[in-house]
Amino acid sequence: MRKLNFTLLPTLALALGAIFLVNYIFAGFLSKNPSRVIFLTFDADMTHRMLWEQEMGIVKQWYDQELMDYLVKNSIPATFFVTGMFADMYPDLVRSLASNPNFSIQNHTYDHRSFEPNCFNLPVVSSDNAKRLEIKRTQNIIKSLTGRPPTYFRYPGLCHNTHDDDLVGAEGLSLVHGQIGSGDAYLRDPKAIVRNIMDNLNHGNVIIFHLGTVKTPGTLAALKLLVPKLKDSGYKLDRL
Ligand SMILES: [Zn+2]
Repeated sequence: MRKLNFTLLPTLALALGAIFLVNYIFAGFLSKNPSRVIFLTFDADMTHRMLWEQEMGIVKQWYDQELMDYLVKNSIPATFFVTGMFADMYPDLVRSLASNPNFSIQNHTYDHRSFEPNCFNLPVVSSDNAKRLEIKRTQNIIKSLTGRPPTYFRYPGLCHNTHDDDLVGAEGLSLVHGQIGSGDAYLRDPKAIVRNIMDNLNHGNVIIFHLGTVKTPGTLAALKLLVPKLKDSGYKLDRL
């Protein structure tokens, strides 16, 4: 009898260890992402250079219509962080996205200049007044197109300091940085984008994508792999 107990001990210890480990991982995960809700967000960047490239015919359009169709047809909730210049260029698109209850339109500055220097080679907007104008101008453009002013704001390149946060807060906007970069701006393989996201799901629940143009050609294919995968894993999608 005593001998039998001894042989069972390692198995018992192993089982208890496994239960502890699973609980530990799961508790850690739940504390960061308690609701298992994921927000797919899409940055509608527009710079003066991009504007020029479209005017010169170098780029036909700065969004992928197929990507928009995919989101609409499959009723996938999405949040668009839109620059004022993008909204000026594509007012019909912004109006149509805003009319879909699965989508929301938020503020991503006017011309995608960075609020702080040394940010992915973006031109910089330096004075407080100019930063306020970047925010207000876009609030007004989006409100006039959609009837609703944005309530969330995201920095170009995510570059900012706490003083910038105060400026944004004073305009009545909440900050959304996005804890998970999809990597669609530098990863070309859709599977690599999905892997990158799945590997980082414990960092939060806001994923940053772009609009699937020449700058991010893997976005749509990655979404088609990712959305079913997230749903199969028990996640729910929502918009901000
Ligand atoms: Zn951006």
